Amino acid sequence: MSVLLRSIIGLVISAAATLAGAQQYPTHNVYMLVPFAAGGPTDTVARVVAQAMAKPLGQTVVVDNRPSAGGILAPEAVKNAKPDGYTILIHHIGMATVSTLYRQLRFNPLTDFEYIGLINEVPMTIVARPNFPAKDLKEFLAYIKANKDKVSYANAGIGAASHLCGMLFMSAIQTDFLTVPYKGTGPAMNDLLGGQVDFMCDQTTSTTSQIKSGKIKVYGLTSAKRVASLPDVPTLEEQGLKGANVGIWHGLYAPKGTPKPVIDKLVSAMQAALADPEVNKRFTELGAVTFPKDKQNPAALQAHLKAEIDKWAPLIKKAGQYAD
Ligand code: ASP
Repeated sequence: MSVLLRSIIGLVISAAATLAGAQQYPTHNVYMLVPFAAGGPTDTVARVVAQAMAKPLGQTVVVDNRPSAGGILAPEAVKNAKPDGYTILIHHIGMATVSTLYRQLRFNPLTDFEYIGLINEVPMTIVARPNFPAKDLKEFLAYIKANKDKVSYANAGIGAASHLCGMLFMSAIQTDFLTVPYKGTGPAMNDLLGGQVDFMCDQTTSTTSQIKSGKIKVYGLTSAKRVASLPDVPTLEEQGLKGANVGIWHGLYAPKGTPKPVIDKLVSAMQAALADPEVNKRFTELGAVTFPKDKQNPAALQAHLKAEIDKWAPLIKKAGQYAD
């Protein structure tokens, strides 16, 4: 048998094995990588979705936190994972902002992934340590401006939603302040509760229960409208502060080259999860809104990601904030 014939037979056998594997998928645990620390808002959304996807997939979906400042390690790990559907990524708006924020990024959000679909949208809140000396946004802004060399702002590193929100906020109030990066706003929230940092901007996913129990102070929402779970919290805009609005969205990704039958199964499992009333009840409690069914698919996520990259790139360039 010629070398050529042998290699063709080898290729055919391996393609047949991949197809058979894709059709039987999944036969064991699926790992959902989260770019930030456990206990934070991205982790919370991941756990709700992972648990709900386990039933339609017939396998456990294990939430695997790979925290790093800016959330850049998890996408890189997923890019380099075997494209077999057993390693997937949940990420937020950071997937769209990192390509502008980082001059050297070891993954390309637009070419290194297969898309599964859009999950939900969630606003952010400007919150402060419990004893912060300001009762409303007006006093808060006055205090920050007067003490800009003393106050500290927690974020989850360059590329995090909290970084983007802080960047917009600084620009909107024309004041720079010290930022303290964490590997997620879960640990940042612990320091805020303990008074080690002064304030931060974090998704309602994490802040709602702390606000409701009076453990932190809140000065406004980064959305156009109030959210049902926090009816007494005004938006920044209704208090006269424009230019700091940002909506966080989550999507699911797989490594490039993951077979189509596998992606199809992940899409239907995600859609089944997002149709679950318990999932929607939990999202509503957290201030999040599930994307409509026609956005819960690969084409919609791909288009949204591209549109968000195009939307944020000029704003980030204008703010001149980069990481190497
Ligand atoms: N809220 C974080 C961020 O700023 C991420 C997290 O810890 O979930 O992107």
